[in-house]
Amino acid sequence: MTEPTKKNHLHDKIVHGAAKIRVLVNDILKETKKLHVAADDYCDHANPQPLIVSPTGGPVRDADNHGMGHFGAPRDSKTHKGADYVGEPGQEIFSPIDGRVIRVARPYSDDSRYSGLLISGKHLYVKIFYIEPDLGLIGIWVFKGKAVIGTMQDIGKRYTGITPHVHLQAMIDPEYLK
Ligand SMILES: [Zn+2]
Repeated sequence: MTEPTKKNHLHDKIVHGAAKIRVLVNDILKETKKLHVAADDYCDHANPQPLIVSPTGGPVRDADNHGMGHFGAPRDSKTHKGADYVGEPGQEIFSPIDGRVIRVARPYSDDSRYSGLLISGKHLYVKIFYIEPDLGLIGIWVFKGKAVIGTMQDIGKRYTGITPHVHLQAMIDPEYLK
């Protein structure tokens, strides 16, 4: 018998949590340190509706000259920690989850043109980048696919030729894994 490792312990907790939410354990274990998970990997067993919906209404960005937009896509020596949802600059952006809008979140410390929001749901929280947020929503509970949380910014001004999109990254609430 081998002693359970920390990693296995986390695995057990995740499996335990799977009664409520199915997660792709392998993806989580790859990203254990920061608890990042692929937004598309969530699905509520009791309800076939996904816990996360596309904030633009569009699909995940396909390959362009800046790589691919799915979770885990290669980024130099790292991997993409979120998923990029295709849309049009200026369009309305909807909350991807049911949750409370916590605060403004910024993707770059060196580029104040771009902003986003941190939204905290019941079991996970998300950061959504490249939106002009509706600041009046801070502290307010919003519903996925219904609440307009802002308008889409033009990421093409920073990355020439990139498919216009918003970036969404989801993280499990560590409390949920306890
Ligand atoms: Zn991205």
